[in-house]
Amino acid sequence: MAVLVTGGAGYIGSHAVAALQERGEQIVIADNLQQGHKASLLGGKLYIGDLRDADFMDTVFKENTIDAVIHFAANSLVGESMKDPGKYYHNNVYGTLCLLEKMNQYGVKKIVFSSTAATYGEPENVPIDEHDRTFPTNAYGETKLAMEKMMKWFDTAHDIKFISLRYFNAAGAHAGGQIGEDHDPETHLIPVVLQVALGQRPHISVFGEDYATEDGTCVRDYIHVSDLADAHVLAVEKLRQGGESAVYNLGNGTGFSVKQVIDAARQVTGKEIHAVVEARRAGDPAVLVASSARARKELGWNPSRSKLEDIIGSAWAWHQANPGGYND
Ligand code: UDP
Repeated sequence: MAVLVTGGAGYIGSHAVAALQERGEQIVIADNLQQGHKASLLGGKLYIGDLRDADFMDTVFKENTIDAVIHFAANSLVGESMKDPGKYYHNNVYGTLCLLEKMNQYGVKKIVFSSTAATYGEPENVPIDEHDRTFPTNAYGETKLAMEKMMKWFDTAHDIKFISLRYFNAAGAHAGGQIGEDHDPETHLIPVVLQVALGQRPHISVFGEDYATEDGTCVRDYIHVSDLADAHVLAVEKLRQGGESAVYNLGNGTGFSVKQVIDAARQVTGKEIHAVVEARRAGDPAVLVASSARARKELGWNPSRSKLEDIIGSAWAWHQANPGGYND
C-alpha cells in the first residue's frame, strides 16, 4: 500500500516524504511543480500534474495501490491571498474537491490534511486550542477552513476519514542537509532574514511595530519542519488503525516576536542583519501560539527540535550550503 503525497515536492511536503521514506513507506507524489522542486525528493515516485486534471489523477490512482493521502498541494501566502483570492479558491478549494471526488471514486478512505493556524484568525485565547472559534482574517485561511469543512461532509457521506493538522509557523531544514526551504518569491520571515544574512537582500522589513504585543511586532509559534513531518506519519498510522476524523494544532506552544526572531538570527549567523520597520501586512493577526496538547496526547506527537536557535540554525546550514536554493 502506498501513501499519495500531493504537493510532495514543496517545502513541508518534501520533509514529509523524507519522514515516510525513513519509515520504509511506499510513496507516490503528485505535484505540478509550480512551487515544488524535483531535487527536494529523497524518495517516492513522482507524477507531475495538477489535482484539477481528472485524467492525470486517474493515472495516479490507477497505476498505484494507494490507501492514504497526505494533501499539501495548495497556495499558502497570506499576502498574495489578499490580492488574488480567486487563485486560492481555485487551486486550494476546487483542487481539494477534485482530489476528494477521485478518492471517493477509487475507494481511498484516509486523508491527512495540511491546514493552518490561519483558520483561527484573531485568537480568542492564547494558546489557541482546537475548540476555539475559527474566523479567518485572510483569504488563505478561509480557503483552508473551507477545505476542512468539505472533508467533514465527505466523511459523513462517503466515510473518508480525515486528520487535519493546523500548523503554526513551519521553519528549519532536514538534518541531512539535502533539503530545505526554497520558495520563489520567498516571503517567510526566517528564510528572508537569512537571505539578508547572506547579503542577498539589503534589509529585513518588519511589518508593523504597533501591534498589542510586548515589543509591538507580531508573535508567532515557530515549529521545526521535521517535527511537522513526523506528525503526518503518526496521523497516517492513526487512520490506518481505525482512527476517527480529527483536527490537531501543531506548534511548540511558545511565541516569538518578529524582533526576537531577527535577534536570534543575528546570534546564529553572527551577521548584523539590518531591519527596517514598515507598514503592517494585510491579514496578519497579532499573536498566534498553539496549544498542541491534543496532538501530543492522541497522536503521541513529541516535537524534539523546539529551540528557536536550533530551528534557525538548521535553516542557516541549508541556506549557506544552497545560497541559490535548488537551482532548478
Ligand atoms: N514578517 C515580517 N517581515 C517579512 C516577513 C514576515 O515582518 O519580511 C512577519 C509577518 O508579518 C508575520 C511574521 O513575520 O507577523 C511571520 O510571517 P510569515 O510570512 O513567515 O508566516 P505567516 O505567519 O504569514 O504564516
